[in-house]
Formats: sequence, structure tokens, C-alpha cells
Amino acid sequence: MGNVGASEVPQLIGPDGLRIDGRRVDELRALRVVAGPLKRADGSAFVEWGANKVMAAVYGPREVHPRHLQVNDKAIVQCRYNMAAFSVDERKRPGLDRRSQEISKVIAEAFESVVFAEEFPRTSIDVYIEVLQANAGTRCAGIVAASVALADAGIPMVDLLPSVAVGKVGGHIVLDLKKEEDNFGEADLPMALVPQSGRLVLLQMEGHMTASELGRALDLGVTGCRAIYEKMKQALRDRYSVDPPQAMAEAAA
Ligand code: ADP
Repeated sequence: MGNVGASEVPQLIGPDGLRIDGRRVDELRALRVVAGPLKRADGSAFVEWGANKVMAAVYGPREVHPRHLQVNDKAIVQCRYNMAAFSVDERKRPGLDRRSQEISKVIAEAFESVVFAEEFPRTSIDVYIEVLQANAGTRCAGIVAASVALADAGIPMVDLLPSVAVGKVGGHIVLDLKKEEDNFGEADLPMALVPQSGRLVLLQMEGHMTASELGRALDLGVTGCRAIYEKMKQALRDRYSVDPPQAMAEAAA
């Protein structure tokens, strides 16, 4: 949604109906999820999604800092989403700007609605999201990574939280926008879904589309989230399933 003249807008959907990177309108970018890469955090996950690279680390439940945020009958979820200075083309000014603060807040609220916070009164569950390389959809990649990191930390949750952005690009409703589509498209709509219940716990929209296009976009996003959900579960299976022959060899060594 950049402010550029019409003549500068690249053709985002070709005559063959394909996008600038050759994807169909309902196709996700390549997604790789790794659970537990960090040894010092209670839980962690790394997500490579198209050209996005995002690390998440989780600590807790632990003592609340600052103390006055403590709640007597439940845990609070605190989130810090940060973009590394080297994550974008032009060096980003380091530190928590307004955008990062807003994203941190909506992500914390999304997770507050899925963790069983009552089980850990007077504690904090701290989620750190570091965007190492950005190419649109980083808040969604952050939610996917944080969600797997929370599961890796053993935090009880209603469900994992797959997330994806849908939008409108060159007049078409598309799944999982990349940078050029985000910049030059008509709308960008990140969402996060609780797959078991079908409940949306994060929904934002920048740009414009009609109500009927919005309905189609949500359907596309829900289908996308369900595919992402499978990859998230597989990452956790890969981390925790022990290959019997390998375990026997290790035990014998
Ligand atoms: P998201 O990453 O969740 O899509 P935005 O829609 O705000 O969030 O940003 C889209 C993309 O724009 C980012 O993924 C990143 O590639 C780029 N971007 C965001 N903020 C900055 C910034 N301060 N400097 C340079 N590029 C940025």
C-alpha cells in the first residue's frame, strides 16, 4: 500500500493468473518451522517463510517484571516483537518504534486468549520475537514461531495459533502476500486462527476491499491457516519423537 503513482505500480498478477513469484493466488510461500533451536530459552522456534526469517523464544511461567503488572488469579502474557536493524533493505532504526509496540500488543492479546493463564497465577509468560529478515507477513511468521515456542516450553494452550495474511492484489484476493504485493497491492489483512474452534483471535486490515471480497479473503486465510497448522504440528513431532534405532545406538555408545 505504498504511495506511488499508478505508472510505477508493477503488474502483480500476470495474464496467466500467476503472481510475481509464480505462485497461484491461493498458494503459500515455502514454510519451514523448526522447534527448539535455542538451548537457553524455556521454549523456542525458528520460522523461515518465503524470505522471512524469524526466531521466537519463550520464558516462563516466571516472576512478573515489572512487579505491579502481576495479576492475582492468572498469568499475564508479555510479548516483545522486534525487527533487527539488518532485517530490511534500508537499515531500520533499532529499538521499539510505534509499529513494533502495536504488533507486540496484538500478539500478546492473541496468545492471552489461548493459554490456560488461570493455571499460573501471579506469573508472566514472556514471548520474544526477533525478525532477522523481513519480507511482509512478519507478524504472522512471529505468531507461528511464538506459538510453537510456547508449546516447546510446555505452556498449556487451547491450541496452536496458525497465522497468515490475505489481501487484495491487482484486483485478486490472494493468500500470503510478499513484500511487493504488500507495498503495491490494494489490501493486506493479517489473521490468526484457533483451528479447533474456528475462532479468529487476531484480525487487522490495511487498505480497502468490499464486504464480499472480505468474506472470500477470510475463507482463503482459514484454509491457509489449516495448512500452516499441519507444519507447526510436524515441527513439534520432529522435535519430540525419538527415532528408536538412533536412540538404541546412542544408549549403546
Ligand atoms: P508485516 O511484516 O506483518 O506484514 P507490515 O505490513 O507493517 O507488517 O510491513 C510489511 C513489510 O514492510 C515488513 O515485513 C517489512 O518487509 C517492511 N517494513 C516494515 N517496517 C519497516 C521499516 N521500518 N523499514 C523498512 N521496511 C519495513
